[in-house]
Amino acid sequence: MIPILRAWDDPSICHGFVGRIGGVGGGRYEALNLSYFVGDEKDAVDRNWELLRAQLPALGEVAFVNQVHGIAVQRVDGNDRGERPEGDGMVAAGERIFLGIFTADCVPILMLDKAHRAVGALHAGWRGLIGGIVGAGIRAMTEAGASLAELQVAMGPSIGLCCFEVDAPLADRFTREIPGAVRHRRAGLPGKAYIDLRGIIYDQFEAAGVNAEHILSVGPCSKCESNQFFSRRAAGGKVTGLQLSFIGLTA
Ligand SMILES: [Zn+2]
Repeated sequence: MIPILRAWDDPSICHGFVGRIGGVGGGRYEALNLSYFVGDEKDAVDRNWELLRAQLPALGEVAFVNQVHGIAVQRVDGNDRGERPEGDGMVAAGERIFLGIFTADCVPILMLDKAHRAVGALHAGWRGLIGGIVGAGIRAMTEAGASLAELQVAMGPSIGLCCFEVDAPLADRFTREIPGAVRHRRAGLPGKAYIDLRGIIYDQFEAAGVNAEHILSVGPCSKCESNQFFSRRAAGGKVTGLQLSFIGLTA
């Protein structure tokens, strides 16, 4: 059984945050790596997808982007799957269009306005956050028909304030370039500081007009729980398997 964390208790919202438990991969890919682009054996990734699909019969083909730590958000219309355009987010309007994001410490964000049939997924690491991926994601959702009043957001397992220690100059960029980010900074060793990525993202959605009760944070710190989730930091910066976060409306 593959453990899947969910944000919304509604079977018509096919979504979840998948960890690393329940697959067949070994080494840095142990066990449930679902990405074909990090050097894992194709047979292992194929088998992992089979295992996931056996557990999630409602999950159709999943659209992906070639993630580059930027802020491009692609509109997926259901006929362009398999293309994997460059970007760090996707939105879609309608049913049975499934969006997938891969992470290993960066924050996966799922977005939803069920009434207006809009879904979205974002990959938010430090570069994307400073670049403005949250604002780009909100704009793309609005263009796909979502209303801010109805927008629901869920952040998934990702590196926490406990573990995301960065050099002071980078922490200074956060606090200089993102309004309010200073509230999510803690002192570290000399020359270092800790940053709370999910805290910054929460504030950005709320400042944009999303109802605070609609902004969820799901799951633990990926580095603290690196037995359950892939964590690039826990692997000493080496390429690892990636965990999947996905969303699509089935009805
Ligand atoms: Zn941690």
